[in-house]
Amino acid sequence: MSIHSRLRAGLAMLRWREFAARPGQCPFCGPTVLLRLQRSEAGLRCARCAAGAVQISLGWALRTQVADLGARDVYELSSRGPLVAHLTRHARRLQLSEYFDGIAPGSEHHGVRCEDVQALSFADSSFDLITHTEVLEHVPDDHRAFAELYRVLRPGGLMLFTVPYHPEWPQTLERARVAADGGIEHLQPPAYHDDLLRGQGRVLAWRDYGADLPDRLAAVGFEAGVLPPSPNIPWQLGRCVVLAQRPPGATTAGFRHCERSEAVQCFGSWQISGLPRRCAPRDDGRSGLPANPSVLETDPQAAAQDYRDRIVGPVRGVLPDDAVKGIEEPLCGACTNALPANTAKSRR
Ligand SMILES: [Zn+2]
Repeated sequence: MSIHSRLRAGLAMLRWREFAARPGQCPFCGPTVLLRLQRSEAGLRCARCAAGAVQISLGWALRTQVADLGARDVYELSSRGPLVAHLTRHARRLQLSEYFDGIAPGSEHHGVRCEDVQALSFADSSFDLITHTEVLEHVPDDHRAFAELYRVLRPGGLMLFTVPYHPEWPQTLERARVAADGGIEHLQPPAYHDDLLRGQGRVLAWRDYGADLPDRLAAVGFEAGVLPPSPNIPWQLGRCVVLAQRPPGATTAGFRHCERSEAVQCFGSWQISGLPRRCAPRDDGRSGLPANPSVLETDPQAAAQDYRDRIVGPVRGVLPDDAVKGIEEPLCGACTNALPANTAKSRR
């Protein structure tokens, strides 16, 4: 019995109020069963590859926007997961990296190249395509990071990425900044996200992006737009994906433009490559600032563990260990403030 079959059989045994499953398409594996382990973005899973909502959203953007991955040199700012596996199979050349404290950028650590996105060690114009998911909110100086990513992209090159994004906010919410003494000055109650390498609740979120995100990209030279969530993702759990292009000069050959039918879902008039400037907020009642600021004071590590237990707990011991691990790993990358917020709600 394959992992896939056992996963489906195991989940079918669950009696969980929020659980749902339906046949669907995964951008990485094709036909699959999509699982909703709970009514939140972090609860979405592909039953075959265990990709979550963020990776699946990025995957669909890749499928619709990049016509010729096999002819492209790609840089992905992580080193594992379903997106990395997909790029490994299909890109002409793939560069991966992680950020490790205390390791010199450009050198390897446990076989993975270390890079600081604020000071990349790559030569100018090294890549055709750059992808990253839930990275830039963790970078102290995102202006420098965007400038560096622009520098290492070739003219006409494309960057697809996700960040916590709230199009209904006029401005990005800066949560922290580097103080004059080099320390961290918190402007909001600190929010920490999980990280596979560093553990639960260990990575500070410096900001949550608002509708000015395309302006921040334009400030370093990008032309940018926001793709609406893919219609292939059910239960309204898809993410908007940001698309930024280093202006090509003459041609955008190789990259397909956004379909008009997708654009009509969005509002705003500034368009580049057929893309809307802003993406309509998801109508799920979870997109605004938390109504109760005290949820942000939840202990992030305890909240993360509690959240993970609620999702994985019911399948632990029911499914094989490797299947449970497959569900746990993407949860480690669940970068969302909804995490402590949902936990706080569930305790009320
Ligand atoms: Zn999949």
